[in-house]
Amino acid sequence: MTKMVIKGGTVYDPLNGIDGEVMDIFIKDGKIVENLSDGELKDAKILDVKGKVVMPGGVDSHTHVAGPKVNTGRVMCPEDHYKSPLKKTHNTHCGSGEIVPSTYAQGYKYSSMGYTTLFEAAVPPMLARHTHEEFKVMPIVDKAGYLLLGSNWFVMKYLKEGNVEKAAAYVAWALETTKTFGIKLVNPAGVESWAWGKNVHSLEEENIHFGISSGEVIRGLGAVNEMLGLPMSIHLHANNLGHPGNWEFTIDTMDVAKNIKPAVNKQGYDNGVKTKYSHEREQSLYMTHMQFHSFGGTSWKDFESKAEDISNYVNKSDHVVMDSGSVAFGKAICMTGDGPGLYDLAVMNGQKWANVDVELECGSGVVPFVYSMKNKVHSVQWAMGIELLLLTDPRKVIMTTDNPNAGPFTKYPQLITWLMSKKAREDTMKLCHKWAGERSGLAGNDKELSLYDLATVTRATPAKAIGMGHRKGHLSPGADADITVYDISPDYNSSDYAAIEKAFTTALFTIKDGEVITKDGRIIETPKGRTYYVDAKFNDELRNEIVADVQDWFRRYYTVNFSNYPVPDLYLTKPTPLNINVR
Ligand SMILES: [Zn+2]
Repeated sequence: MTKMVIKGGTVYDPLNGIDGEVMDIFIKDGKIVENLSDGELKDAKILDVKGKVVMPGGVDSHTHVAGPKVNTGRVMCPEDHYKSPLKKTHNTHCGSGEIVPSTYAQGYKYSSMGYTTLFEAAVPPMLARHTHEEFKVMPIVDKAGYLLLGSNWFVMKYLKEGNVEKAAAYVAWALETTKTFGIKLVNPAGVESWAWGKNVHSLEEENIHFGISSGEVIRGLGAVNEMLGLPMSIHLHANNLGHPGNWEFTIDTMDVAKNIKPAVNKQGYDNGVKTKYSHEREQSLYMTHMQFHSFGGTSWKDFESKAEDISNYVNKSDHVVMDSGSVAFGKAICMTGDGPGLYDLAVMNGQKWANVDVELECGSGVVPFVYSMKNKVHSVQWAMGIELLLLTDPRKVIMTTDNPNAGPFTKYPQLITWLMSKKAREDTMKLCHKWAGERSGLAGNDKELSLYDLATVTRATPAKAIGMGHRKGHLSPGADADITVYDISPDYNSSDYAAIEKAFTTALFTIKDGEVITKDGRIIETPKGRTYYVDAKFNDELRNEIVADVQDWFRRYYTVNFSNYPVPDLYLTKPTPLNINVR
């Protein structure tokens, strides 16, 4: 395989404490190596990137790129597709879509921006097969999916019985069966009540039929997660998303996981990669799209940002990391497993709405949306999403738009300008409703993220938080040679934010597994990326018991046949299990 030297670039690699050092990066057989021998150097490809910025490949730890709700978003918005055709070239497929691009286009667009790893944040177990079918045709990027388990009948039943081991056996079986990566909770306990047109609004309120509360589900699945030693922590979309005044509830929710200790079991996949600062996950709770959970006020009339209080909590807590779910103005499509949450939005919006109940397992909703600068609430939400990223320790916050919920991933470059340039924020704020300045702390915040900070919130922190630090998010020898070169001077002028946006819209080079994949936005190679999943061996006896339960319920309640449920390896591109043995 190719040997390569990325020569003379200015490197930002936060997990190794490298902050703008001019250095060479050596690559061999798809991995980063310490150096190459004289013989190897003779036939190595030399990429001269003097004066350019070098970072590890981007890692999106919370995005929606594959599966039924993503496809529903495409179907609901044909106008997003016929207006944006992407032509076929000699080595790329045609495609379309700005807000939810088609599968091929997503792979091309993400990788031309310098992203090489995507984690789909919501996979319904029964529809995992569809998710993998879309993954399979998404070129270039490595990917994985989080399994929706927060209102799963088996999980709720076992946890209510107090049988955490049995819940763990079910989760281990479910992850391996659906070929997914970790535990996702969406409006825990509440989505089950939504099947009866209800919701839960507190951590103690018990849901219909199972009589289990959100607090019990969070604590229970948190315990399951660490009992199995999974690579990532539980990934939580809290209850009460998008409700004015939810910020205090969000803090109470984070408190629920305070005493859960992270216990990663890496024996089966530890490759011994070393970084200066630990690349092991340290949190027991990953809170997602926190902009939607930092709402102050008591109604839309006195709505305000509580981003500072949320950031303060996260800064002083060791057990939490979060992603921002920052708003970018313009069209978006809200899509989530939070059925009741999106019903509330649909009522307010009065436009198109799709709602799906996935038998015994979860639900979902899809609502096309427009964030307007002239809207009071949207303009505050915009400020909040930026505040979270400016006020929180970059080692505890991840830059996302919850693609495409608060805006499509193609808006990341614009979001970066708001983080790196005070002038960009000021110029946008002038166009916003005055609430943006009056009801948030953004106007008084002078902070500008550095390139090092940016590499932290888009590479180091997400890779570490999802338990992929053994191969992603840094440039240590042994890591995957996923590297991005940006055409921006390390001494950029933060006021010239148009130049910043341009640089992050199109990477000069995106390198994946040691191959140049894109150059100046042109797709050069279209390899297939890996699909990661967790294969946890836990307790064989309990496994047999839970499989018998599952088969029984399949006979009684499911409309699909049990034998059609597991996703076989042939549905995956480069299947890459993370083997865990906790027998
Ligand atoms: Zn999401």
